[in-house]
Amino acid sequence: MRWSFPVGRLFDIPIRVHYTFLLLLAFIWYVESSVLGPEAGLHSVIFWALIFACVLFHELGHSLVAQSYGLKIASIILLPIGGVSQINEIPRDPIKEVAITIAGPVVNFLIAGVLLIIGKMLYPSLQFAEISLQSGSMIVDLFWANIMLGLFNIVPAYPMDGGRILRGLIAMRRDYLEATRLAADVGKLFAIGFIIIGFFYNWWLILIGIFVFSGASSEADATVITSALEKIQVRNLMITEFRTISPEEPLTAVVEKSLHVFQSDFPVVDGERFVGILTRSSVIESLHHRLHDKRVGELARTNFPSINPDSTAAEALAAMRTFKVTLAPVEENGRLEGIITMEKLLEASDVINEK
Ligand SMILES: [Zn+2]
Repeated sequence: MRWSFPVGRLFDIPIRVHYTFLLLLAFIWYVESSVLGPEAGLHSVIFWALIFACVLFHELGHSLVAQSYGLKIASIILLPIGGVSQINEIPRDPIKEVAITIAGPVVNFLIAGVLLIIGKMLYPSLQFAEISLQSGSMIVDLFWANIMLGLFNIVPAYPMDGGRILRGLIAMRRDYLEATRLAADVGKLFAIGFIIIGFFYNWWLILIGIFVFSGASSEADATVITSALEKIQVRNLMITEFRTISPEEPLTAVVEKSLHVFQSDFPVVDGERFVGILTRSSVIESLHHRLHDKRVGELARTNFPSINPDSTAAEALAAMRTFKVTLAPVEENGRLEGIITMEKLLEASDVINEK
């Protein structure tokens, strides 16, 4: 994700922090220290940093269960509104999905339990009964913060954890696509509720409401697209007649070719072999830096997936998204049969869904 920087790895998962998160901490420090003095400012910053450590543990809960199913975790990103585990392929198995999802909130409840035990052991007089984030005791505050995190996340507002659990539970009895649509609709209702309540009580809820609403819409759309594409093979969608460029050609030749065809990215083919992808953006960037003399081979992207013609279009889409490419070679036994483009895949899903 752009605007984030790496802070290290845990269990072989890269951990990243979004820059706006630092802005949030700076903002908290500024507000608290100007009102209550520098000591209170520092206290608040530490408190919020610890809360986000708990958010990180929550995400690790999801990620470790996912890893135990053999899934790959691209990264965990901490944002001001929470964390995101980027799991490459969330399984279509409702039981696994529910297990992965429920692990996050469970971690928060576990942390709360540990804090309660440690707090009672170290300071027998500590009071945990009253809900508070400003009790004067960091342990009590963090206890309640984790209870709230756990509870808030199981609100069935898809794509929040509770919504995913709901989707999984519906999917155990019904079609996956239908379950997603239902969960997304419930999610949107909650989102609208968050936004309305947010106006009166807490601006944070408005932000979360907007995030939930757009997330519910885009994830439901993505599921609709993938479900449609599962029914069709790449063989039936691949393009067999296309313009190619050779790695030896100079950039200027490409510019000339691209003026005549409406093709955003070019397959780079050396004889019979697909060797790379020259993206329009890299052409523009190179021209901008006056690298007219560069050869195509030097500028082409060489990490791309090779798609089998018998794969489903959904598998092709997933592979292309993982590699972040808009086109890929379709190859069988090392032979280039054609190419498949993102545009073609999305077009096909539209056609299937309209039927
Ligand atoms: Zn979660």
